[in-house]
Amino acid sequence: MASVEQAPAAEQIGTGIPVENPATGETIATIPTLSGAEVKELVASARAAQPAWEAIGFEERGRVLRRAQKWVTDNSERIIATIVSETGKTYEDAQLAEIMYAAAAFGFWAKEAPNLLADESIKSANPLVKGKKLVVRYRPVGVVGVIGPWNFPLTNSFGDCIPALAAGNAVILKPSEVTPLTSLLMAECLRASGLPEDVFQVATGDGATGAALIDGVDFVMFTGSTKTGQKVMERAAKTLTPVGLELGGKDPMIVLADAELERAANAAAYYSMNNGGQVCISIERVYVEAPVYDQFVAKVTDKVKALRQGRSAGPGSIDVGAVTFPPQLDIIDSHVRDAVAKGARVLTGGRVAPGPGMFYEPTVLVDVDHTMSCMTEETFGPTLPIMKVADAEEALRLANDSPYGLQGSVWTKDVRRGEQLARRVEAGTVCVNDAQVNYTALELPMGGWKTSGLGTRHGAGGIRKYTQQQTLLVTRFAGKRDPHMFPYKKRTTQLLGKLTRLLYGRGKRD
Ligand code: NDP
Repeated sequence: MASVEQAPAAEQIGTGIPVENPATGETIATIPTLSGAEVKELVASARAAQPAWEAIGFEERGRVLRRAQKWVTDNSERIIATIVSETGKTYEDAQLAEIMYAAAAFGFWAKEAPNLLADESIKSANPLVKGKKLVVRYRPVGVVGVIGPWNFPLTNSFGDCIPALAAGNAVILKPSEVTPLTSLLMAECLRASGLPEDVFQVATGDGATGAALIDGVDFVMFTGSTKTGQKVMERAAKTLTPVGLELGGKDPMIVLADAELERAANAAAYYSMNNGGQVCISIERVYVEAPVYDQFVAKVTDKVKALRQGRSAGPGSIDVGAVTFPPQLDIIDSHVRDAVAKGARVLTGGRVAPGPGMFYEPTVLVDVDHTMSCMTEETFGPTLPIMKVADAEEALRLANDSPYGLQGSVWTKDVRRGEQLARRVEAGTVCVNDAQVNYTALELPMGGWKTSGLGTRHGAGGIRKYTQQQTLLVTRFAGKRDPHMFPYKKRTTQLLGKLTRLLYGRGKRD
């Protein structure tokens, strides 16, 4: 059973920012706020430790990561208890979306890093490089700074550290001040798994600590709000430090008249309310074709009404947990109030639930439109606004009427049509008859378009971003002077002109 007692004790981690259990309102720990000077020291020790970590190679690094994978499965109850205590989420949300993710990710990156970062032998058609050895290699950047949000302390904060470590970098993780305990526990996991000293460190603190981290590292992996992401990129520009940004979303769900309505309704309820709706790729708004609108709304409302909310008392005890971040409660409520003031109806929920702890009732809104913030801004809570549309084209136009472009979904029995429509949704990932599960396939790139981000996690890009690409050209057999070298000679120049026409100028063009 999840209990706060199993979380790291306050005195073990010093004094400073209080960490609260959002489901009870109790302070469960305090963490230090690292100053800019302290962050600089961490970066210096990470820089000193990194070359040896890079030098031991993929196999040895993989060994450490596989031990960490085992540690996660052996200690899953302790990790779940820590996550539940600092986020207020359900046992299942911690188990499925965090423990299973981390356990899979350790193994995936241990296995795939050597393949995805192997030297690539390149062939070129250009006659000037014929016979030469051409190689592209991926070298770790050095020290990676990962700055994470509070909604998934293991998956979204720590998860991005795994490929960075597998690539041979040292990593400093700045978790959200609201949920730092899981990151500290993962430092213990890596120590126990034999990771050399200072290769992974946690910089606890607030936004200023995160900002200071940007100045010293060689790559910044940021997950959080679009507003903070812009600040991160601005700060990183000062040192020309590359960034990966995984930002907010307003994922649309398009339900066509021929959809399997029972599955679509179950998915709408689950993928909008799991983790209390605090999922970047949560279904945040739904567009339903008119002929099935009433039936769909009735089904979803019944399912949402049946959800059990509260403090987790272990597996199966509740469906929807707490709101983790105090200001988020006001944002959720303001979106609902704004919608109601403009004519929306609340079919269930619609209020801050009584404490102790921070809860917002699972909410279904109808009669909504794009004048309302619940349809245009990221709500990041257990709310689901549903809008009736005339047809698929109207749904698509509204789905794309957003500054965000993280994910989306289309629901129809005609999967060919669904895929065609999916290709027109302006988002980094679009599912047909599904949502969110793409995140579990670590082979699939995941990243946002528009203001939802820059770059991708997972897939080849999810590890190559932590490296610098180096091109090697090796000339083994050559004369003392190549024909194009000085001194320029008329005859050679004319020959090169002929060669250019021969290679690229032959044949007719349309
Ligand atoms: P924030 O942007 O508020 O914070 C993210 C992190 O940045 C925190 O660790 C925060 O520290 C830190 N930070 C704050 N200010 C600065 C600064 N000036 N420089 C550097 N770091 C800073 O996001 P939330 O924690 O509120 O997370 C929720 C958001 O994350 C939502 O928008 C959600 O969509 C998005 N998200 C996106 C995902 C994706 O994959 N696209 C996945 C998960 C979440 P502190 O908390 O201590 O202030």
